[in-house]
Amino acid sequence: MGGTGYYTHRDCWKHEMGAGHPECPQRLDVIEDRLLLSGVADALDKRDAPLASRADLLLAHDGHYLDSLRGMSDRLLEDYAAGGPAHAAIDPDTSLGLHSWQAALRASGAALAATDAVIAGDLANAFCAVRPPGHHAERAKSMGFCFFNHVAIAARYALDRHGLRRVAIVDFDVHHGNGTENILAGDDRVLMASFFQHPFYPFSGTAAPAGNMLNLPVPAYTRGLEIRDLVETHWTPRMDAFAPELILVSAGFDAHREDDMGQLGLTDQDFVWLSQWVMDMARRHARGRVVSVLEGGYALDALARCVEGHVRVLAGLS
Ligand SMILES: [Zn+2]
Repeated sequence: MGGTGYYTHRDCWKHEMGAGHPECPQRLDVIEDRLLLSGVADALDKRDAPLASRADLLLAHDGHYLDSLRGMSDRLLEDYAAGGPAHAAIDPDTSLGLHSWQAALRASGAALAATDAVIAGDLANAFCAVRPPGHHAERAKSMGFCFFNHVAIAARYALDRHGLRRVAIVDFDVHHGNGTENILAGDDRVLMASFFQHPFYPFSGTAAPAGNMLNLPVPAYTRGLEIRDLVETHWTPRMDAFAPELILVSAGFDAHREDDMGQLGLTDQDFVWLSQWVMDMARRHARGRVVSVLEGGYALDALARCVEGHVRVLAGLS
């Protein structure tokens, strides 16, 4: 049984959506600094993320969508070479930069390589420190800082390529993972458990979700102890009944009380508790197999501390 993998790639730093954008390369800097300074990095098996292939992306995305996004990226590069702008807007929050396509391929590639290694038993579990994030990306739509849905692609990859029968997704980002739901709703080989602030961006997840979507909308200012109660009451029995063979985590840290992207009241210790819950479920049902992928988290100090706490739990350091 291997250790804890840490997947990232310098290409993930090159993606940027303009000065002052909260989904910024510094997010990865503070995570790396914290893991190095704390000594946690010494316990991790650090690996470069490969590029996801088109065939991999097609597990969760529409071919026309991929072509159109690739075309947009190619045109941006050509226009930029001719003196044009360095960004192409997709929505008011989301834009393609010169390196975004490549970074997104690395981010999905990280999730897939981690899935390969964890299923092979080469790694016990893994964390992917990647950007852009993925859980808002729908089958045929970029939105909310996301282009490819890394966790949804990895779920289908584990099922279709590795022959797993049941994969769980745990999404603790403050925002609803509308993209993951859009892609995987009704696929009963997947159970997606998430809580999210509601009503709040992207204003989804509450209208009669499919049976495999375990959605817990919570109001602004909900605190961690209430979340823990909800998890034990609603998630634990469903997860036990489902018995996943692999758990993927959409690891967003923007539900932290210091993160003003959202208004939930979680603390560092709540994220440790959630990480331990995931590991308990994985040990009980999935031979400990967990692949966790960074989603949101924009208060840089809190993000760095919470990722350290999360990775410590994965690595068995706390
Ligand atoms: Zn978020």
